[in-house]
Amino acid sequence: MAKVAFLGLGVMGYPMARHLKDKGHEVTVYNRTAAKAEKWVSENGGRAAATPREAAEGQDIVFACVGNDDDLRQVTLGEDGAFQGLTSGSLFVDHTTASAEVARELYAAAQDRGAAFIDAPVSGGQAGAENGVLTVMCGGDAEPYSKAEPVIMSFARACRLMGPAGSGQLTKMINQICIAGLVQGLAEGIHFGKKAGLDIEAVLDVISKGAAGSWQMENRGKTMNQGKFDFGFAVDWMRKDLAIVLGEARKNGASLPATAMIDQFYAEVQKMGGNRWDTSSLIARLER
Ligand code: NAP
Repeated sequence: MAKVAFLGLGVMGYPMARHLKDKGHEVTVYNRTAAKAEKWVSENGGRAAATPREAAEGQDIVFACVGNDDDLRQVTLGEDGAFQGLTSGSLFVDHTTASAEVARELYAAAQDRGAAFIDAPVSGGQAGAENGVLTVMCGGDAEPYSKAEPVIMSFARACRLMGPAGSGQLTKMINQICIAGLVQGLAEGIHFGKKAGLDIEAVLDVISKGAAGSWQMENRGKTMNQGKFDFGFAVDWMRKDLAIVLGEARKNGASLPATAMIDQFYAEVQKMGGNRWDTSSLIARLER
């Protein structure tokens, strides 16, 4: 069993940290809004630390799952940041969806302290975190990865080292590119079916068993048809992720015309008041 810290008890981090505790690891938590950390400790035991630095001190592995690149820099390199508490031989595993650039920067900063850094963004959403069945895409060195993997599996059903620092974030970018195009296709299909006067639930039931079937169709088709979006993966988060994707594409020369357009569709959903709506709300702009 490992001594671990978890920084960032949001929608994802809160249940991920709980799975670590349930698997028998010794867990210290830190959350910027301290009340959430206190609630976590009252429900799960363990210890709450006042700063990321204090949380990181003396741990085998420090996990984080915060918002974006700037948030990540703040909890690692900022005042009383976790990297000040890292000791030689310790390991920092970051589950934030962030840029490959910040992953490489933190990999180097951890190395300067004799520690290791793994970028490890996740897929599977809130339900995946709560049920401990996330998919984790990692970048970094093989030796620290092999130490981290069994502990990560406390809240995952798949975990894989994809290559050097930043490779986990690059893999997550591909995940988001694939989702964006797929959700737009599904939205257009359902929209068309309604205009054609078909029974959408029957349509989804039959075509989900054929070549058009997907996770999005299985898990979001019905709620898209009902116009329900007050759950799931927020449009604001998706736009943050697509900004990272499009920034990386500008650097590596990839051509992503559909992704760039769908990013603009999400901007329209935000203007409709959909900042916190699930990403399946792309259909709402077709039905305005
Ligand atoms: P969330 O519920 O908004 O939680 C964000 C967490 O980060 C909170 O604990 C927040 O603390 C903390 N935080 C943010 N900025 C911080 C800062 N500057 N300093 C210290 N702490 C800070 O977000 P989430 O849904 O858990 O998502 C977290 C990450 O996972 C994001 O990168 C997201 O893209 C990714 N992700 C999310 C999902 C999903 O379905 N939600 C799926 C896959 C990946 P406070 O409590 O004080 O605000």
